Amino acid sequence: MADQTCMVCGKAFDTEKGLKWNHEGKWFYFNDMGCRNRFIGNPKKYLDPAPPAQT
Ligand SMILES: [Zn+2]
Repeated sequence: MADQTCMVCGKAFDTEKGLKWNHEGKWFYFNDMGCRNRFIGNPKKYLDPAPPAQT
């Protein structure tokens, strides 16, 4: 039993009950299919958050 935080919605969940997805050789875990689909649709949004604007 391992706790993981969903990188899409931020909820904590048990990886055994969640979903996993392999992206570029790494496994990512999500609490439900909706979150996984959102990640698949735009992985960069979650992997590479926009840097804070600097002026
Ligand atoms: Zn989620």
